[in-house]
Amino acid sequence: MRWDNLRLTDVGEPDTATPLFARKAVTRTFDTPGFRGVTFYEIHARSIINRVPGASRVPFQWTINPYRGCTHACNYCFARNTHTYLDLDAGRDFDSKIVVKVNAPELVRRELAAPRWRGAHIAMGTNVDCYQRAEGRYRLMRGILAALRDAANPFSILTKGSLILRDLDLLTEAAEVTDVGTAVSAGFIGDDDAEAAALWRSVEPGTPSPGKRLEVCATLTGHGLPCSVLMAPILPYLTDSPKALDCAVRRIAAAGATGITPIVLHLRPGAREWFMSWLAREHPRLVPRYLELYGRGAYAPKSYQQRITDQVRELAERHGVGRSGPAAARRIRSRPQPPAVETGEQLTLM
Ligand code: SF4
Repeated sequence: MRWDNLRLTDVGEPDTATPLFARKAVTRTFDTPGFRGVTFYEIHARSIINRVPGASRVPFQWTINPYRGCTHACNYCFARNTHTYLDLDAGRDFDSKIVVKVNAPELVRRELAAPRWRGAHIAMGTNVDCYQRAEGRYRLMRGILAALRDAANPFSILTKGSLILRDLDLLTEAAEVTDVGTAVSAGFIGDDDAEAAALWRSVEPGTPSPGKRLEVCATLTGHGLPCSVLMAPILPYLTDSPKALDCAVRRIAAAGATGITPIVLHLRPGAREWFMSWLAREHPRLVPRYLELYGRGAYAPKSYQQRITDQVRELAERHGVGRSGPAAARRIRSRPQPPAVETGEQLTLM
């Protein structure tokens, strides 16, 4: 069981109501509106910089994840299944039972200083969101960023959370001494109309709005930090119309994003059951069409993915993604920039 490599903190009383944590487990709840119904499990991890399994098709080898579970509660979240490794369920438990590695900052500092560490790039926010609401209380990222800055270790962050702006000072300091990449994830961005807002609240109920995420992108690029947008997930028949894609890419370009990676929804076990039950509840008429698209596996057909990628590429060109905005004028370090549009069909990112 995955808990075996984690040590529980020895403060507080055990929560005997939850079998998994009956043995000396520590739980915390906070009676504030943002944390109502959420239970935090504080643990001391044994290690924090993790190597990505060789079979993963992702463009990085090392990750740091200070949390497990995510209160952003996106219905499609691919990380849901990882909660089952902890004997928790991939549905409501994933959204409301959050594991917090309270010693993450000191572990990062220690592991970066180890002689065997070679200073490789570290990606954060690749499993669950490191700037989810818990971070507002636990403030683990500040210690982690300070350690990365002090070691001049390159890193990147992917988030849906606006909390990243709290750490602008550390991000810009780090960018003076090493490569720092940022990206926000926003798969659909309407024109702030009621329909788009309703979809966002329904499918990503715990997140800052897509518009707010673009403001984060604009602020980061305005401070000279390259920020791209992971346009993920694009939801078939819900957010993939030419009008919806055009609106999203136009607004992403206006935010000064340095690039876009479009990713069509994928539905692996855990996410699949949770998302399909949401779809049956909210958009029952689409269930047969989704079963057709995803009947053979986790991914939509290649032809569909290619069509979306081509459309986004064309729109990015038309709206000037990567060519305009404050980032072009205020990049801190000169370095080769990624292409404005990357293909991310197989990336296992949030
Ligand atoms: S998709 Fe990202 S932000 Fe949403 S619940 Fe999963 S980890 Fe959190």
